[in-house]
Amino acid sequence: MKLKNRNIKYPRLEFKTGELLLILPHGKEPAELTEKYSGWIKDKELFIKSALLESKKKKLHNRELNELKKLVFDLIEIYSDELGVSSERVAFRNITSKWASCSKYGNLVFNTDMKYLPSRLISYIVFHEMVHMISRKHNAKFWEVINTKYENHKELERELFVYWFRIKSDYKK
Ligand SMILES: [Zn+2]
Repeated sequence: MKLKNRNIKYPRLEFKTGELLLILPHGKEPAELTEKYSGWIKDKELFIKSALLESKKKKLHNRELNELKKLVFDLIEIYSDELGVSSERVAFRNITSKWASCSKYGNLVFNTDMKYLPSRLISYIVFHEMVHMISRKHNAKFWEVINTKYENHKELERELFVYWFRIKSDYKK
């Protein structure tokens, strides 16, 4: 795990090419920063440790890429109606840093590794990205819409981390 500084307000956890990064805000002495966020860093380390342990027990789903695409397109159709949004373009790529993304023009990109996930997590990812067409940021409004369908989103986000570790550690072997 690496520490990095960036022009952000709050610390966050990110993946870059399968490596875990702790991103901390700029502008303070490193020692001061590490101290300020030591509790947060410890929390994240514990979280990663338990997620890594759990990941070893996860079974990966054996889906063809075409099956994933069909499932995602079906979900997009359902959620477009539910949320009253529409997507211009949908792409599937081997992304190294996240499960999916939504551009400000509503272009959706999905990680091809999603084919290893249980369908309920695939549904959550698709719904999550489409809610970004209503609210770009992870703000109160965003989570309000997410909560209408996924009150358990924290648990799902955690599970996605666990699967991420499972899939990424598989690659290295
Ligand atoms: Zn998001």
